Amino acid sequence: MKRILVTGGAGFIGSHLCDKLIEQGHDVICLDNFFTGAKQNIHHLMDNHYFEMVRHDVTHPYFVEVDEIYNLACPASPIHYQYNPIKTIKTSVMGAINMLGLAKRIKARVLQASTSEVYGDPLIHPQTEDYWGNVNPIGIRSCYDEGKRCAESLFLNYHRQNGVDIKIIRIFNTYGPRMNPNDGRVVSNFIVQALKGDDITIFGDGSQTRSFQYVDDLIDGMQRMMESRNGFHGPVNIGNPNEFSMLELAKEVLDLTGSKSKIIHKPLPEDDPTQRKPDISLAQKELNNWEPRIQLREGLSKTIEYFDDLLSISNS
Ligand code: NAD
Ligand code: UDP
Repeated sequence: MKRILVTGGAGFIGSHLCDKLIEQGHDVICLDNFFTGAKQNIHHLMDNHYFEMVRHDVTHPYFVEVDEIYNLACPASPIHYQYNPIKTIKTSVMGAINMLGLAKRIKARVLQASTSEVYGDPLIHPQTEDYWGNVNPIGIRSCYDEGKRCAESLFLNYHRQNGVDIKIIRIFNTYGPRMNPNDGRVVSNFIVQALKGDDITIFGDGSQTRSFQYVDDLIDGMQRMMESRNGFHGPVNIGNPNEFSMLELAKEVLDLTGSKSKIIHKPLPEDDPTQRKPDISLAQKELNNWEPRIQLREGLSKTIEYFDDLLSISNS
């Protein structure tokens, strides 16, 4: 049994990680400022003696004795991270400095939730970890992309200079139950629109691609990375290499929901990447043959079930 700090633990991914860690018998401290997280995501854990919730902002130092730190605190959807871009940069950069400082002091292992966004609008396909990326450093997505790139640099430099035991994963688009229905991400948007019978909003012509990973596969990969051999720090891609266009995704959602919603097109947001697909050979090699197990149709069905329940509760 370990004591584990999860920053951003009340968010979509963080709450699934807290569930898994509690199920495995660990003592979990969930730190969150509830910017995009929700109490409902962790409500079911509140009576558990091994679960503690701390309302705190990672841009301020936090002191605690733990064995491991998962640093997930940061808004992840473009709408939310662009709402207060300066705060987004501070969360990535100062949050990393505070968690690395803590890890250094207490000699804890610390894992950073980085992102495929560090590759920007990639010029090589699929993306391998040694690709340096194609990021617009002054565009509207840069608060997120550059914040995460700076955090990766901080992680590696705390390791080189101070010997901090670090791990970095680059997460590709992840979906599943507990996504925030209002955060504007494509999977939640399409499902909610289809279930409500609203128009499905495709940005641009819908030919841009993403590779969607179900949340359980990510949690498995993230934990394997935390437990990986000493000396392997990453960054390592954690994502599902099956690539879909937004048009294909919309058709899949319409098919699975049986919805009569019609597809409409809206302008493509600035700097929207045209394609994204992880090369996962490094993860397979270093993380004990890790690979995603849940493919799009199965994962979408589970997510549709979640949103269906959520919408019927809010309508009753
Ligand atoms: P989310 O928005 O649901 O969760 C982020 C959590 O961090 C929320 O609970 C939020 O309240 C909290 N938070 C934000 N700023 C904070 C601050 N200053 N102090 C304390 N808490 C703060 O997003 P998510 O999808 O669960 O993403 C979790 C992590 O994974 C993020 O770091 C994100 O960048 C990374 N990631 C996610 C995806 C994805 O597809 N979901 C892809 C790549 C990387
Ligand atoms: N997108 C879309 N309709 C929506 C929301 C998003 O077509 O209602 C597109 C968006 O332009 C992008 C892709 O879906 O090309 C994925 O968007 P998301 O915000 O989920 O993730 P990210 O762009 O960060 O990969």
